[in-house]
Amino acid sequence: MFIVGITGGIGSGKSAVTRQLEQFGINVIDADIVAREVVAPGEEALQKIAQHFGSQILTNSGELNRAELRVKIFSDPKERKWLEQLLHPVIRARIIQQLDNTQSSYAVLASPLLLETDQHQLTDHIVVVDVPEAIQIERTISRDKNNAEQVKSIIQTQMPRDQKIVKADTIIDNSADLATLKKEVAALHSKLLTLAKQAPYSD
Ligand code: ATP
Repeated sequence: MFIVGITGGIGSGKSAVTRQLEQFGINVIDADIVAREVVAPGEEALQKIAQHFGSQILTNSGELNRAELRVKIFSDPKERKWLEQLLHPVIRARIIQQLDNTQSSYAVLASPLLLETDQHQLTDHIVVVDVPEAIQIERTISRDKNNAEQVKSIIQTQMPRDQKIVKADTIIDNSADLATLKKEVAALHSKLLTLAKQAPYSD
C-alpha cells in the first residue's frame, strides 16, 4: 500500500484536505482519533496512566480527564516524557493496524505530529499543508473560539513551518480560499494516484 502522510500546523487545513480526499474514496487514518482511541475505557494505556498518576486522573465514569492530565504534564517535562513514551508506540502500532486494513488506491495518514514523531517513517510521500502564521491564528480562532495567545502558544510547541517544508515531498499552499484549495486537492489526488501506481509494490 502506498501511504501518504499529511501534516501541517494547527489550523493549516489538514482536515479540509483529508475530507476532500475521503470524498474521492481514499481511506484516511487520523492520528488524533487514534490517540483518543488508545486511552478509551478498557484500554491498557488508560490503566497505566491511572496507575501512574492516580485514579483522580479519571472522571467518575472512568474516562480520561484530559484537562487534569494537561495540567500534570504542562508543568512537568518528566511527566510529559513519561506519557509520550507510553503512548507513542501504542499509537504507532494502532496506526499500522488500521493502515493494514485500508483498501483504497492509496491510504492517508493525517497527523499533526507526523514529522515530530517516527510516524513519518510509515509513509512513502509527505504532504505539508502550509499557511502563514497569521492565517493559522485567524482560522483557528474562528473555528475554536479561542484567543490569539492560546493559538500562538500551541504554534510554539509545534515544529516550525520552515522545518516542516524542507521535509515535504509536496507542499499544499492553503493561503487562498476554499475553492482554490479544492482545485489543489484534486490535482494532488491525481498526482498521488499516479505515484501509487508507479510504486514498486503496487497491485
Ligand atoms: P488542527 O490541526 O487544529 O486540527 P487542521 O489543520 O485540520 O487543524 P482545518 O480544521 O482543516 O485545519 O482548518 C482550520 C479552519 O480553517 C477550519 O474551520 C476550516 O474550515 C478553515 N479553512 C481551511 N482552509 C481554508 C481556506 N482555504 N479558506 C478559508 N477557511 C479555511
